Amino acid sequence: MITEHNRLAPGSTIGILGGGQLGRMLAVAAAQLGFDCVVYEPEADCPAGRVAAKCFTAAWDDQEALAAFAACVDVVTFEFENVPAPSLAFLAERTSIRPGLKSLQLTQDRLVEKQFIQGLGLETAPFAACDTREDHDRAVATIGVPAILKTRTLGYDGKGQYRLSQPSDAAEAWAALGGQPAILEGFVPFDREVSVILARAMDGRFAAFDVTENVHQGGILRTSTVPAQISEALGDQAVAAAAQIAAALDHIGVLAVEFFVVGEGLVINEIAPRVHNSGHWTQDGCAADQFQQHIRAVAHWPLASTKRHATHVLMTNLIGNEVEAWAELSGQPDTFVHLYGKRAVREGRKMGHVIRI
Ligand code: AMP
Repeated sequence: MITEHNRLAPGSTIGILGGGQLGRMLAVAAAQLGFDCVVYEPEADCPAGRVAAKCFTAAWDDQEALAAFAACVDVVTFEFENVPAPSLAFLAERTSIRPGLKSLQLTQDRLVEKQFIQGLGLETAPFAACDTREDHDRAVATIGVPAILKTRTLGYDGKGQYRLSQPSDAAEAWAALGGQPAILEGFVPFDREVSVILARAMDGRFAAFDVTENVHQGGILRTSTVPAQISEALGDQAVAAAAQIAAALDHIGVLAVEFFVVGEGLVINEIAPRVHNSGHWTQDGCAADQFQQHIRAVAHWPLASTKRHATHVLMTNLIGNEVEAWAELSGQPDTFVHLYGKRAVREGRKMGHVIRI
């Protein structure tokens, strides 16, 4: 039970693993509740480091730096799930990690994640593990085309993926991924994509934001719209599935589950054990956004209301040089610009987002 005595007190320090835009927005939300943040990120001059009290620029396997980081924080959280598990385990011996190792280990590897989802009785796209070219050829024959070959680890924003539209694409797909351990996924002919962003507290209670409808282009999220154009029953089913996943992971903090909607059915695409791009709309659509909600859960504070205060919310990512329109966008009515402070514009790189209410 949450009592006034076991909450993390303002003035405490939260460690954030990963220094990208999610870490930056988490650090800002933490500051609003009176916390300091210390960021750990291998790349120098990262977006989160510039809004934190301190930033460790060190490799994931640098035990000296990890130990020093653990020594100056009261609790550790992460902004992305590809923190190497041994680094998190090393930190777990020294400080509290929220969410815990289980959330990270079951979502770092697409094969493990899909097996976990199916083990809960929930539906995924058909898939097969491809460790060798022979496995891959067999998978193409059994799953059929269209299909997508995805690396088991470290893929994001459509990276580490190759779409096969005919069986003869198999050789090119395998070569494109460089022979890394992969899974072949059957293509789901979805009507729409939706996601559930929820926070789970240490006492098992959870609070979900309204279901969001997402449009991707080239594997990258383009827009999120709320409310999603789905029935109330299907929305409830999506929230129930996400809550079941969060409970099975014993998750603490925000968790995102992405779904394909096929008719009145749901197929789970992916779990992210962290704040998520499709939850950014909550920044201007709700009184307390996903970042504050995550910090509250991690700090063992009561979760905030997830009530939406705008009838309709549209979040659009600013990708690559689209960010150059910031001045014009910032002058549009009911439009709120959020920028990540990234130094270099690169094609396909998420530079910011705009929220229209
Ligand atoms: P992912 O990074 O795996 O979430 O993939 C990014 C986007 O690619 C998804 O949001 C979908 O739009 C599309 N996609 C990925 N896997 C599939 C699939 N099995 N069937 C249909 N579309 C997919």
